[in-house]
Amino acid sequence: MRWSRSLIPTLKEDPADAEAVSHKLMIRAGLVRQLAAGIYVYLPLGQRVMDKIAAIIREEMNRIGGQEITMPVIHPAEIWQQSGRWSTIGGEMFRLKDRNQRDMCLGMTHEEVIAWLAAREIRSYRDLPQIWYQIQTKERDEARPKSGVLRTREFVMKDSYTLDRDAAGLDSQYEAHRQAYCRIYDRCGVRYFVVESDPGMMGGAGSHEFMAPSQAGEDRVAICARCGYAANVELAVSRAPAPTFPAWALEEVATPDAKTIAEVCAFLGIEPALTIKALVVMTDSGPALALVRGDHQLHERKLQRVVGAFRPARREEIVEATGGEAGFVGPVGLALRTIADETLRTGCYVTGANKPDTHLRGVVPGTHFRAEFADLREAAPGDACAMCGAALAVEPAIEVGNIFKLGTKYSVPLGALYLDEQGQERPIIMGSYGIGPARIAAAAIEQNHDKDGMIWPETIAPFQVHLLVVNARDTKMTEMAEELYAALTTAGLEVLYDDRDERGGVKFKDADLLGLPVRVTVGSRALKEGVVEIRRRRTGEVATAAPADSVAQIRTLLGRSA
Ligand code: ATP
Ligand code: MG
Repeated sequence: MRWSRSLIPTLKEDPADAEAVSHKLMIRAGLVRQLAAGIYVYLPLGQRVMDKIAAIIREEMNRIGGQEITMPVIHPAEIWQQSGRWSTIGGEMFRLKDRNQRDMCLGMTHEEVIAWLAAREIRSYRDLPQIWYQIQTKERDEARPKSGVLRTREFVMKDSYTLDRDAAGLDSQYEAHRQAYCRIYDRCGVRYFVVESDPGMMGGAGSHEFMAPSQAGEDRVAICARCGYAANVELAVSRAPAPTFPAWALEEVATPDAKTIAEVCAFLGIEPALTIKALVVMTDSGPALALVRGDHQLHERKLQRVVGAFRPARREEIVEATGGEAGFVGPVGLALRTIADETLRTGCYVTGANKPDTHLRGVVPGTHFRAEFADLREAAPGDACAMCGAALAVEPAIEVGNIFKLGTKYSVPLGALYLDEQGQERPIIMGSYGIGPARIAAAAIEQNHDKDGMIWPETIAPFQVHLLVVNARDTKMTEMAEELYAALTTAGLEVLYDDRDERGGVKFKDADLLGLPVRVTVGSRALKEGVVEIRRRRTGEVATAAPADSVAQIRTLLGRSA
């Protein structure tokens, strides 16, 4: 492709609104443009990357027996009402009415459509197992579209669905997907962890996420370097180091204006691990009290698994439920449902006294208050791994894919049944598996760049070779470059040929920004010595070659056979 006839609008400056490296670089290199919050146009280079990732995904899905289909973006409300998700999913779903006032929605995922299809097309155990997949657009009205293409409101997903007779069938198709996903990320040059995760809105019996470590990630994973344990912090279990507890007797202490853990600790001269943080939440069955140690963070999802949907109580609700003020809430003497983090099974603490400006010192869980114990706190760096005891690390990561065992959650309500060998009707056992090509592209950039720009893994680079003529006005130089362009292209290499009438410096800068694996420069040495320069973007190594030998050399560099 000739740059002079292409749409590659590179920018010198970072866009003002971008924080994530991949966001900045994708805008600067002219891969994407934002039409509205979380809604992007893919320009030619961006599209080529997406196509390459999609091709790799397609190959790996076909390899495990996946059959490609295309399902609609627009769905009738009925199937979502049947599964129950019409009412359980909130603002994330784009809803609309057709001209006859029928409720419709835009597909955020396709379990319902698959179950609808299976209900019609699968009759007996002989029709199973199946893997159906698509690579198609999803619409989600994300609360916070963020970080360029990492979290958008419209995005392409490869989603596949498995249909099986029994749990053993599901297990084996799940495992096939896990391996296919690993191959996909490996081939795309993305580093990742496979972690246990919370099935969330999908429901079901088990799930794993594929997490690409990156500062731009919105998720955090706890990782044990010793035993390999890895889990999303929303699920991760760990053991927190315990402080030395003083032998306090139970007594009230005045703590004027000391409301936060930090203020109470400063006032009493103690460390946060000797306090209990108490949060009043409103659940469907009324107010409840959640407790974690003062130096720990409550994880919303963990609490949600215990109490169901909840929200923090408002000030007046706290007063009504505890008789005290926000900032002085504690578990002693309250008749509220109380859930305490596992760490609080032992120890002796300072807690709020449910009276203004007062705390209780010497509170012993189990003795001075009763609670249900559950894992509520977020795993933190330095915690001991619950499996082997080694210190855990917690790293930010981008969720690039996930896999779910759904079981019969969708097949039962949508009537996706099959007849077994005895002629008995049984629900189909389903699995669902998602992967986001845009997140793979962005994660690849997050993990492969330097101060000058992107460094594409060869497999997903928009082009393999960046051919550059330093002075497009020099006839001799241009002639050599044109010949080389023809030769490289004929040899089957994907070449971006920068034939623009621009200064050499501008072209070199753009080449670094675009980060194609190999740059071939036709410059003054071509005229003087008859050689071109071949430079690897990743290492900066430079070699020279006569134009006639350059195809072979470039192929070797690209890790291909000559
Ligand atoms: P997240 O927790 O980040 O919102 P999710 O659990 O909602 O992701 P799934 O519904 O399982 O994601 O979607 C499967 C894959 O689709 C994700 O692993 C991710 O790669 C991609 N994906 C999901 N939401 C988005 C989005 N808003 N923008 C871009 N890609 C997305
Ligand atoms: Mg989501």
